[in-house]
Amino acid sequence: MSSPNNENEIDTEKKEKVSRNFIQNIIDKDLEEGKYDQIVTRFPPEPNGYLHIGHAKSILLNSGLADEYHGVFHLRFDDTNPMKEKTEFVHSIMEDVKWICGDLDSEQIYYASDYFDSMYECAVKLIKKGKAYVCDLSAEQIREYRGTLTEPGRNSPYRERSIEENLDLFERMRAGEFEDGSKVLRAKIDMASPNINMRDPVIYRVARINHHNTGDKWCIYPMYDFAHPIEDAIEGVTHSICTLEFEDHRPLYDWVVNEVEFEHPPKQIEFAKLYLTNVVTGKRYIKKLVEDGLVDGWDDPRLVTIAALKRRGFTPESIRMFMDLSGVSKANSSSDYAMLEYCIREDLKMKRPRMMAVLDAIKLVITNYPENEIEYLDVPNNQENAEMGTRKVPFGRVLYIERDDFMIEPPKKYFRLYPGNEVRLMNAYFVTCTDYITDENGNVTEVHCTYDPETKSGSGFEGRKVKGTIHWVCAETAEKVEVRLYENIVDEEKGVYNEDGTINLNPNSLKVLENAYVESALAEAEPMDSFQFVRQGYFIVDSKDSTKEHMVFNRIVSMKSSYRVK
Ligand code: ATP
Ligand code: MG
Repeated sequence: MSSPNNENEIDTEKKEKVSRNFIQNIIDKDLEEGKYDQIVTRFPPEPNGYLHIGHAKSILLNSGLADEYHGVFHLRFDDTNPMKEKTEFVHSIMEDVKWICGDLDSEQIYYASDYFDSMYECAVKLIKKGKAYVCDLSAEQIREYRGTLTEPGRNSPYRERSIEENLDLFERMRAGEFEDGSKVLRAKIDMASPNINMRDPVIYRVARINHHNTGDKWCIYPMYDFAHPIEDAIEGVTHSICTLEFEDHRPLYDWVVNEVEFEHPPKQIEFAKLYLTNVVTGKRYIKKLVEDGLVDGWDDPRLVTIAALKRRGFTPESIRMFMDLSGVSKANSSSDYAMLEYCIREDLKMKRPRMMAVLDAIKLVITNYPENEIEYLDVPNNQENAEMGTRKVPFGRVLYIERDDFMIEPPKKYFRLYPGNEVRLMNAYFVTCTDYITDENGNVTEVHCTYDPETKSGSGFEGRKVKGTIHWVCAETAEKVEVRLYENIVDEEKGVYNEDGTINLNPNSLKVLENAYVESALAEAEPMDSFQFVRQGYFIVDSKDSTKEHMVFNRIVSMKSSYRVK
């Protein structure tokens, strides 16, 4: 007979087994069979743009596996195509990966371009084995000869060149004797293969482009499908994890590592990309938004680049939680953006002080409170986390409250301020509305009330009950700030793209509030400090535009959640 305790233990064990993803299962099996002494994984970005949340998935998946199996994780810049690459991107990627992973040692950082010599040697080896040839067909002819999905390709007239001639021509390609595009090196595989990637793919091309790492040393550059497996093999990568679109390239990957005769060939495993509902993740599209000036750079808080998520106030912990919840799979699907919001709320809930800020202010005058007096109330920094201590919050005769916390003619079930009604001012006193003032358009400009000194928060007052509690800031000491509220940059209703392929922008994706006040303690906040503003959500001091004189707060996420944990 087993005790309930034991059953629980077994249950947890079983659950852990069941919830292992398919990649963990593959690695478990490989280790059981004694295939590897140590697991090596890598994240191989091409430095041609900023990283986005999809890349974060790949970073966390790869580094997480290395951690779990006490292996090694490499950040490798896949910088073999100098046409689109820039050092600006190398720097931003390095920073982003470090932010997501915590940190990286310098010995974890690799550059594919450091292997150009080895790649050249690998190509020579293939030629010597009769597995590669120099081809003079133009790009267009190569395309024509390649055939289609339903028709086999045709052999190039240069396919049967002798090994000697190929070695000579390839060396002369390297020496710069031929024009860009005039000759390529091709793998000699099978022009009739049902997999088009196997129809004698180009593996080297002539291109006179300055490279950010190797300068003008090379005028021939390897193609991705040839370079990538060699990079993995050189670094001793055991499991080369990539996204589904490379599934059809796997036979070529295997062909390269086998023909080059690496002793411990890496294994390619594909998983489904991370997609988010109503969010543009593709590097190409983000680049277009940036280049067309539709957003404030790569780190515009409405984007989901890692730089933008950081500026918006997301934390590495929240992103990690999101990736854990969204799982790893072989089938394409979209994750809910609301789940990401749920994760950041969960992460910040206990860690950040809960402050008072009024986003659209009107004055509240307490007519029976002494003029020119400020008292300091003791307020807990986080009601759910006593360790965060308390602070002194100034209170006076004139306060700011939210415009929508007062109504002249309230509907049913409105428990906030209206003429004759009593509410609690959060952390302070009960007040009863006695009057209000409007401007010539009928807009309320000031609300008047009286307070009951007996009802001070924390005084143990047990008298009347009130149904509404509203937040406030002391007008005399408050700091006027700019607040930015964000919505998804694409319109949820209309879909991501217009018929003509342009991005369907949401005109309300950025809303700037100019009539916002925060309690005085927040005037000390530094860029990247984040807080809960009670009843409003989580906010961060903007790292780009906020100054001591003109503070700018970004809303990370509101308090309301549409996401339910299943
Ligand atoms: P994009 O698809 O945005 O243009 P990319 O694939 O061109 O990005 P790379 O620099 O080649 O960008 O990607 C580096 C790594 O990140 C690759 O292993 C790629 O498979 C992975 N990756 C890219 N997008 C996603 C995604 N949405 N989800 C998971 N992994 C991704
Ligand atoms: Mg890519």
